[in-house]
Amino acid sequence: MRLGAHVRSDDDPIGAAEDLGADLLQMFVVDPQDRKMPAPKDHPDAERIRSSPIDVVVHSSYIINVASLNNRLRMPSRKAVEQQAKAAADLGAIGLVVHGGHLRDGEDAGEGFVNWRKLFERQADKGGFAVPIFIENTAGGDNAMARHLDAIERLWEQVGDFDDAGFCLDTCHAWAGGEDLVGIVERVKDITGRIDLVHLNNSRDEFDSGRDRHANLADGEIDNEVLVEVIRTAGAPVILETPGEGMADDLAYLREAL
Ligand SMILES: [Zn+2]
Repeated sequence: MRLGAHVRSDDDPIGAAEDLGADLLQMFVVDPQDRKMPAPKDHPDAERIRSSPIDVVVHSSYIINVASLNNRLRMPSRKAVEQQAKAAADLGAIGLVVHGGHLRDGEDAGEGFVNWRKLFERQADKGGFAVPIFIENTAGGDNAMARHLDAIERLWEQVGDFDDAGFCLDTCHAWAGGEDLVGIVERVKDITGRIDLVHLNNSRDEFDSGRDRHANLADGEIDNEVLVEVIRTAGAPVILETPGEGMADDLAYLREAL
């Protein structure tokens, strides 16, 4: 099982992953908060990242919302996914993580799921994405595309035919989103047929709080044995997105527990 962590992209990502003893790293290819969703630039360490035995996965901008019914958000979001997938491929990444996104209150969720389908359909006409897109479940909102399993089921009815549509399970988001973590891997795989990546995070908030605040494994509300069981059953690479100070301890705990 490959265990790793999210590291800063602007400060020697391979060195940071090596210091942690990580098998894989996750990084951004643009400023994730930048609302303009700029095109990624070549990373100064690209060659080192590509040739390192440490695997890479890229996390896309938080601003991306490919489900949105608003053209001025959905169109740049589609373009950003295409560009960031290309940048991820340039780094030799195994995939690009994209949040499920959400609609506004009162909007028809069905249209959001269809917008996800259109993302893959349009890209299929151009030969598909440069790396698989790992759609990540999210914690909050009443009209989210991938908070609850019933939504993920409707999403998968639209995207399940596309080989480049994968799934990233975030344990903090599932818990805070109100999905029981016991047995969740089976329930997700029954829907998606795959889990490509696990974001292993504890949660600072209680079950179904709808809040997205990651905690180190020892500091959160989720029982660590439940977390370990998730990664044991998922059989997918694992990325910690926990606070940096405790990350090395989190990794050490997992190595020991597995
Ligand atoms: Zn995550």
